[in-house]
Formats: sequence, structure tokens, C-alpha cells
Amino acid sequence: MTAQIISGTEIAKQIREEIKQEVAELKEKHNVVPGLVTVLVGEDPASQVYVGQKEKTSAALGIYSERHDLPADTSEADLLALIDKLNKDPKIHGILVQLPLPKHINETNVLFAIDPKKDVDGFHPVNVGKLMIGEPDYLPCTPHGIQQLLMRSGIETDGAEVVVVGRSNIVGKPIANILLQKQKGANATVTICHTHTRDISFHTKRADIIIAAAGKANAITADMVKEGVVIIDVGVNEIGKTAEGKRILVGDVDFEGVKEKARAITPVPGGVGPMTITMLMLNTLRAAKIKAGLI
Ligand code: NAP
Repeated sequence: MTAQIISGTEIAKQIREEIKQEVAELKEKHNVVPGLVTVLVGEDPASQVYVGQKEKTSAALGIYSERHDLPADTSEADLLALIDKLNKDPKIHGILVQLPLPKHINETNVLFAIDPKKDVDGFHPVNVGKLMIGEPDYLPCTPHGIQQLLMRSGIETDGAEVVVVGRSNIVGKPIANILLQKQKGANATVTICHTHTRDISFHTKRADIIIAAAGKANAITADMVKEGVVIIDVGVNEIGKTAEGKRILVGDVDFEGVKEKARAITPVPGGVGPMTITMLMLNTLRAAKIKAGLI
């Protein structure tokens, strides 16, 4: 079997076009420009790249963006004061605090301080709870991107056995929750595996769809999956550097081995990655529409 390669790059491009058009209409008809602010504390190089990509994508889609780069020794009180100011700023519809934060800052306190209406990451407990009861305002970006990849590739989740490998609050738990909901693009029977699961292969071998979010290269190999499985590989693992010093990234799945058995599979890079930022833009647009009373 030759697997269909699900291109996150292509699907993200389509969705960005849709967002760009809606942003332009919102401005034209209602004089509203969605605004996103990113807050970065410290100089983590990967975080700087992510924040830069968010600014660039915002600009390309007509979304107003603002960036606050704070020194690594910023106190929690100062960060909370900035969030309070941004919560009240009418130009800003979405607030994104780039994680991880320096160790002296309590991440939970910071995420709880963001106004849930501006929580475009979907990490505030109000938004987590709304997702749980099937009435979300904002879906968290990576899991939402995964659902969109499945839907837009024509992969049916209704009644499917889905196995999620990983139980983090940002990927594993929310994607399980999204696919469990009683609605289109969901209705799956979901199993979540983690490091205390007795026999991961037992679960993955009977899965119609595997969502790999373990953060471990080769966590899923060909002997662990059945013929015709659909694989969404969320993992991003650095396995070395090229001679030019560029990072070599792979997913959690042995792509070459598994693609011989799979019906469809996402590559790394070019799979889930491009979807995450796109869904952030979608949430920012949604936040602006909610604020304008259009949703
Ligand atoms: P995380 O917080 O480290 O969580 C990893 C989860 O996987 C944990 O629940 C862990 O179990 C489980 N796990 C680890 N090794 C396992 C194994 N061998 N078998 C079964 N379960 C295992 O990571 P995360 O934030 O969810 O991210 C997961 C991966 O996705 C990372 O590589 C990350 O870089 C990537 N990611 C990509 C995007 C994107 O946009 N492309 C976005 C977010 C994350 P325990 O709970 O028992 O420890």
C-alpha cells in the first residue's frame, strides 16, 4: 500500500487564504481589525523563531500584531501587570504568552490571568472546561489543526478507533477530547496511551487512526500498526545537525517503515506544524468576531 501523504503545508495554505479573505471582509464591513499580541520572556532561540513566525503570518493575513520581548529576569508580578494591561487593550483580541516561561515564573498563574475571551491558545481553564462540555469558544491550536487535517483529507473519524499516544494538556488530552465530542469531524472511540500504559502495541495495532504526540523519535514503528492505518505525527524531535549546523527534525513515527502499511500519514516537517500557527490566526479572527458581537 502506498500511503497518501497528508500535506499540512497545503491544507494550512488553503485555510490561510480563507482567513485572509474573512479578515478583509471584517475590516470592510465592520471596520474591525483582529489584533494578536505575543509575549516572550527570555531568549530561548526556538521560542524566538515561533514568535517571529506568528508575527510574519499575522502580517500576511492582515491581522494586527504586537510583540513584547521581556528580559529573562522579568518578575511574575511585572508579567501579570502587562497581561492585565493587554486584557484591557481594545486593539488586542488575542494574547499569546510563549511557553515555556523561565522557571521562577509560575506558568499556571500566568495562563489563568489571561482574559478567557482573549485566550487564543485555549489553555485557560474556562476554555478547557468549555471544550470538555462540547461548547468551546476556542479550540487549542495544535489539536484543532489535527482535526482539520483529518477532515480536509476526507478521513472519517465517526466510529473510528483512535489511539492518542501522549497525554499532555496541550496535545494529547485536548485532541482526545475533541475527537470524542458528539459532532461532525469527531464521534470517535478514543484511547489515550502514555508511559504507564502496559502494552502500547496492543492499542496501536487495533487503531484506525493513531495520533502520535509522545515527543520520542521512533515511538511508533511498522510492527506496531495495522495495514490501512491513518497516522498523524505530532512529534518534533531533533536527532542531530547537518554539516551546516541546521537541526535535523523527525516525528515520533518511523515514517519510512510505517508509510508502507498506512493508508495516509503526515510528514515531519510539513504535517501538523504549519497547522498550529494557522489555527492561532483562526482563533484571533474568531476572538475579534466574538468581541464585535458577530458570533
Ligand atoms: P509532553 O508534554 O512532553 O508530553 C508527552 C506525552 O507523551 C506524555 O504524556 C508522555 O507520557 C507521553 N510519552 C512519552 N514517551 C512515550 C512513549 N514512548 N510511549 C507512550 N507515551 C509516551 O509533549 P507535548 O507538549 O504533548 O508534545 C509532544 C510532541 O509534539 C513533542 O515532540 C512536541 O515538540 C510536539 N509538538 C508539536 C507541535 C506542532 O505544532 N507541530 C505542537 C505541540 C507539540 P507521561 O505523561 O506518562 O510522561
